[in-house]
Amino acid sequence: MVAKADIDWQNLGFDYMPCNYNIRAYYKDGKWSALELSSDNQINLPMGAACLHYGQGAFEGLKAFEGVDGLIRVFRAEDHCKRFQSSCRGIAMPELPSTLFLEAIEEVIRLNQSFIPPYGTGASLYLRPMMIGLTPNVVVAPASEFMFILYASPVGAYFKTGIKPCKMAILRTYDRAAPLGTGAYKVGGNYAAGFSADKLTKEKGYASPIYLDAKEKQYIEECGAANFFAIKDKTYLTPQSSTILPSITNNSLMQIAEDLGLKVEQRPIHVDELANFDEVGACGTGAVITPIAQIDDLDNACSFNYSEDKIGTISLNLYRHLQGIQYGEIEDEHQWNRIYSL
Ligand SMILES: *Cc1c(COP(=O)(O)O)cnc(C)c1O
Repeated sequence: MVAKADIDWQNLGFDYMPCNYNIRAYYKDGKWSALELSSDNQINLPMGAACLHYGQGAFEGLKAFEGVDGLIRVFRAEDHCKRFQSSCRGIAMPELPSTLFLEAIEEVIRLNQSFIPPYGTGASLYLRPMMIGLTPNVVVAPASEFMFILYASPVGAYFKTGIKPCKMAILRTYDRAAPLGTGAYKVGGNYAAGFSADKLTKEKGYASPIYLDAKEKQYIEECGAANFFAIKDKTYLTPQSSTILPSITNNSLMQIAEDLGLKVEQRPIHVDELANFDEVGACGTGAVITPIAQIDDLDNACSFNYSEDKIGTISLNLYRHLQGIQYGEIEDEHQWNRIYSL
């Protein structure tokens, strides 16, 4: 193991901090190049590139953790790879073969190992795979040449001073994703589409908007760029919908909930059910779980209250269990981690 970079790990935030190296591969004439190493964090693009104009780009977000035993664990890399391939197919881009994806992950953590935050800081190395369409077109058309990049950035513990529940708002004046649209893919355009709603809810003091289904405005979809879950009695509930991005954190929490003896229900969740839940939260790779203390329904001027100022006991248990697996403190019985000894 090489010496750690000179970084104040305890106070590390979520801003992008470039590492020494990134990995790239190019798709041309129907095939992928070998992986290339780069120490440049800029890229050179045709100004007409399809990704810039037509949003032909997909990405992933996963994390590498230094464990209690000093080994490096990457959480559910194969599943992130499968979702990445699905996102690429969803917007007419070629799949990156799994072997290249996994090789790129191994290279990027080996080459940037001085940037992997030390165990005990709650920090991790965020990995960002992405693919973009390069071909310039003045008419709306998909690219024929593509670029894959994997870069990394150390990120701090999401909750530095204890897990803090937040407030979120339901608003019916914006949709995140349309039925038969690209909601289930992690592609650029979905997020630009949410920025105005995000801005509006943040200005009103909320952490994020909660979207309802675009067709009926009856069912809960997602909390901004995180999945929604709720606890009722001994059941973990989460929405079922074809326009939700299938969160790997949520999938893991469903499994852990089952392992811990909870019932798990994935089904459409009506907005009126918010009145019945004991605990609610948002989940995703960034924070694992963000507990929600209050949801305001802005159109109906009503509000649902959960915990006052601390995370619910079941949410906390799920959170600790998942983090425990990621840091090698709890047995990884589902073989979610890829382990590297650098
Ligand atoms: C990435 C993302 C999530 C969370 O997925 P994880 O795999 O848990 O990180 C949820 N919703 C949206 C819209 C996302 O883009």
